[in-house]
Amino acid sequence: MPDPTVTPTSHAIAPWPAEAAARYVAKGYWEGRSLGSHLADTARRTPDAVCLVDGSVRLTFRELLSRADGAAERLRALGVRPDDRILIQLPNCWEFVVFTVACFRLGALPVWALTEHREHEISGLLAHTEARAVVVPDTHRGFDHQALAAKAVAAARTAQHVIVAGDDVWPGHLSLRELIAEADDPGVGERFDAAPPGGDAVVTLLLSGGTTGLPKLIPRTNDDLCYLMKRAAEICRFGPDTVYLAVLPVGHGFVNTGPGILGALLSGGRVVIGRSPSPETAFPLIERERVTATSVVPTIVHRWLEHRAAHPGDDLGSLRFMQVGAARLAPEVARRIKPELGCELQQVFGMGEGLLCLTRLDDPAEVVLGTQGRPVSPDDELLIVDEDGVPVADGEPGILLTRGPYTIRNYYRLPEVNARSFRDGWYVTGDVVQLRPDGNLLVVGREKDFINRGGEKISAEEVESFAREVPAVREAAAVALPDPEYGEVVCLYVVPVAGQPVQLTEIHAVMLDAGAAKFKLPQRLIVVDALPLTGVGKVDKKALRADVARRLTT
Ligand code: AMP
Repeated sequence: MPDPTVTPTSHAIAPWPAEAAARYVAKGYWEGRSLGSHLADTARRTPDAVCLVDGSVRLTFRELLSRADGAAERLRALGVRPDDRILIQLPNCWEFVVFTVACFRLGALPVWALTEHREHEISGLLAHTEARAVVVPDTHRGFDHQALAAKAVAAARTAQHVIVAGDDVWPGHLSLRELIAEADDPGVGERFDAAPPGGDAVVTLLLSGGTTGLPKLIPRTNDDLCYLMKRAAEICRFGPDTVYLAVLPVGHGFVNTGPGILGALLSGGRVVIGRSPSPETAFPLIERERVTATSVVPTIVHRWLEHRAAHPGDDLGSLRFMQVGAARLAPEVARRIKPELGCELQQVFGMGEGLLCLTRLDDPAEVVLGTQGRPVSPDDELLIVDEDGVPVADGEPGILLTRGPYTIRNYYRLPEVNARSFRDGWYVTGDVVQLRPDGNLLVVGREKDFINRGGEKISAEEVESFAREVPAVREAAAVALPDPEYGEVVCLYVVPVAGQPVQLTEIHAVMLDAGAAKFKLPQRLIVVDALPLTGVGKVDKKALRADVARRLTT
């Protein structure tokens, strides 16, 4: 019996219009199957192939599937049902992959959080998802995640289980290692084969970049996500000979689905887990495991190039290409990748809401180095409009709207945000782009109000509301400050209460006390007498960005 205290996700999903859905089915994009059964089929095709490597752990497809099915069965015995949400906050580790596949087999919905998330984010996510369980490391980088999870679960209405990766499992909590042991009953997989979730069932809730106080969650269906990953994997030429290195934090959609970890597994390839994207970790793994593909953000490219210059002897010869995305890659950095790292570049412009653009591996250098690629599906639709919603002339910059076979039609249970973010079925990305005649996009700016710190999206609104909690702050406005390492960091403009001094440390203290993730902390404070306003009386962020630029050049 489903638990009446947990609202089914299907109640909160705006489906694709019948005509579009029928078209996607007719074209073979939507196969009406669950991601869990797709993965099981692939695993059974080459059961003895090693598919997951993490340090000395090397799992074959048979072992991965047996562990995932074993975990799915044990979760079910604990009362976890299909469609229940499970919050996963794990660092990069093989257990993450096994547990995620277990969720897909059972039909439970993994919700991937970042390890940097703290009480503010974790409690918000638990409340919003009504998650049944939370999976955490015991400790990670000196932080006691188990204690945080225990507190958050005790306060949450629906969460019942804390599942812990590591040796120090408190009484009453569950050991992830025991949960993901191989299935006791080898026939258990048949039960999940027999009753898989439907293609239209939600498979995961992704976190949207730039969440406000309430986390925005992106409901992805089995059909749409499987199609996206298969198409992306095809473009990336993933197959059984692929060795994909996962070094970006596994809390991100990019590393899981773009085609990422899951796309590599679906293609019968191998996933190597890197615990950090640092070149000191990644380069030896590339050499030892003969890695063929990986994904990074521009900040990491800088570090890799620097390290490469100092250690030219590392053997990166197996690496065919690296995907770079989630934030703007400067053309001068793009140009250095092939000559210095010896691999091809693939630019990636994508979003958890759906649309994925890739440069192709056989594109001319000018496209690869100078554009953010083109959509992966022929049925991705793009509309570029001005501030009044009127389509711009060909080639002119404008705000990108998109819809298609794997782009969502609404966020999970946020009617007001949905009204702003979706227009006649189009997702309003908030990105400012130019479409070239050859179909490739240039990402030239952003209308939405977040700061992209090395790929981590920080909501300006969230930082501003924290700042206003400081008694001496009357008004606050956060904008991006260009940064050589992260691309952008948070710059906070503040209007103080008359005569009162404001320190950055006070704002940090409020944020840290509230349990906000550290990467959201503003790096620079600018105290002003008044904030510039637009004609309609809103804070003029364009004027503030121009002011930041002016201050940098003077
Ligand atoms: P997320 O959902 O966290 O992946 O964030 C998606 C957003 O990241 C996009 O809407 C863009 O604003 C930004 N983004 C992704 N890829 C790129 C890129 N290649 N260049 C510039 N911005 C990007």
